[in-house]
Amino acid sequence: MKVIVAKTAGFCWGVRRAMDAVLEASARSGAGPVQTLGPLIHNPQALELIGRRGVAVAETPESVRSGTLVIRAHGIPIQQLRGLKDRQARGELTLVNATCPEVAKVHAKIKKWSPKGYFTVILGTHGHAESVAHQSFAEHGSAIVANMAEALALPEAQLEKVLVVAQTTFTTKDFQDISDSIRARAGACIVENTICEDTWMRQEEARELARTVDYVIVVGGRASSNTKHLAELARHFGKPVQYVETAAEMDLAPFAGTETVGVMAGASTPTWLVEEVVDLLEQHGHGPDKAKRVLNAAFGNPLKLSVGAAFLTLGIHAWTGLPLSWRYPFITAAYALAMYLLTPYLDPLGLGSKGPARARLLERSRRVLVSVALVSLLCAFGVASTLGVGSILVVFGASLFGLVYKKRVKVGDHYLSLKAIPGSKDILVALALAVVAMALPLWHDGRAWGPRAWAAVLLVSALVFARTTIFNLRDMQNDQILGKETLPILLGRRTTKILLLAALAAALAATLAVTWLTAHPSPHRVRVSLILAAITCYPAAYLWFFQERFSAGKPKVEPWVELSFYLAGLLALV
Ligand code: SF4
Repeated sequence: MKVIVAKTAGFCWGVRRAMDAVLEASARSGAGPVQTLGPLIHNPQALELIGRRGVAVAETPESVRSGTLVIRAHGIPIQQLRGLKDRQARGELTLVNATCPEVAKVHAKIKKWSPKGYFTVILGTHGHAESVAHQSFAEHGSAIVANMAEALALPEAQLEKVLVVAQTTFTTKDFQDISDSIRARAGACIVENTICEDTWMRQEEARELARTVDYVIVVGGRASSNTKHLAELARHFGKPVQYVETAAEMDLAPFAGTETVGVMAGASTPTWLVEEVVDLLEQHGHGPDKAKRVLNAAFGNPLKLSVGAAFLTLGIHAWTGLPLSWRYPFITAAYALAMYLLTPYLDPLGLGSKGPARARLLERSRRVLVSVALVSLLCAFGVASTLGVGSILVVFGASLFGLVYKKRVKVGDHYLSLKAIPGSKDILVALALAVVAMALPLWHDGRAWGPRAWAAVLLVSALVFARTTIFNLRDMQNDQILGKETLPILLGRRTTKILLLAALAAALAATLAVTWLTAHPSPHRVRVSLILAAITCYPAAYLWFFQERFSAGKPKVEPWVELSFYLAGLLALV
């Protein structure tokens, strides 16, 4: 079976912006709960994940007594907004307005023409929050029109001076037909096509896809109007369509395994729900071997990380002038593997944070993955024991830190945990690995903490920090729900990227300075400098090329984030 996924599948930028606003509000919120006015998006599965982060849904503004209230992307009626701003001014609550700027543009158009006596016709869905909000700006009267029949029923009096706008998720074809019909009957008529760019691109792609495939699967919440429109569009091309909220709802009986299936999704559908559907379709057809996929999903990234960590340790030891031994790379690799595999099981939200499919895979593989993690940890202790009691204690301390990081301890009336320290994950993970990979060998070898030692620790920390941060940024991009322990949620994407680049630049500057300025420089300074430049520039290049430039598409081949770890191993060869 060939599965083609629409490039536009996944959150639109307005929904992602609202999601970020909610998660950032929950990270900042020291006092009081975080609530959204109405469901943030029309997707029950994504809402469930946000709910587990402590974000609640308030049905009315009056039901919000304190804390932070986030206005969702659809916007709210202007009268409600004014009331809430007054309450904010009185210090009753904090307001975060995540109304999508595309929706605000429609408000601006109505505010411009309605006071000039124009009756406003909104092409949209009756009762939809966005259309209701638009109506509140129309002081000279308005009507929501859902189809051609309703447009034809508009009384002549309302069409003397008329402004036509659309709910941002209306269908482009219906907008054209209905607005043409109104224009033909109206006196003074202003037509503003306010369908947002994301919607029309999604609809364009849906048309193209529906033309070329044998079968269409539309993924999204049942209350999502733009998802419904996608299903209608696909049906219009005479193709069989299944409209599902989750992969579990799919009926696989009609598939022989040889069809080409197109998968599209609405603006409020997280990418992981789409991936779950694709996985199931591929398993049903002649997709990648299932055992291989499970192995890859369970061990792919952990193995890439742990082997990379071994190369990184070896290379940096060579650069620092430590005697090369297999023991330290082995301890670092085993420690990294154990922590990676155990971490999801130590957090009550961990299994579900990357979507239900990942959660199910982790749950099914619990026994195997935890066993592998414990064996790795025992191996790390075993090898550390050959270096002495002190080394065991260092590895034990670092492991204990990893194991208790997400644990909550009740102190008085409060629960405390390392994870609750904002931004802690990215920084502490980097420091823990730097301790095992560099601080332990330096201490065991009796080295003085000179500039070279500090530069080496900085380099390892910066590279591990870059890896964790890039994964967090990518998870955010893939519509996964992160917590306030990650820097992108705490500081925002832009500041996190600046911090990451600053850490890499500092590591490069420090290691180059030591390479060129210390009393006993390496005879191969140029080659060493080139490798140092490559390993620190690679994460920055990855971020720029892969995250920024290719993020709209879904590339088949993805470069390894950990490649810089492997390149660092070259330092042992020059
Ligand atoms: S569909 Fe368009 S208008 Fe609506 S939230 Fe997304 S980007 Fe904004």
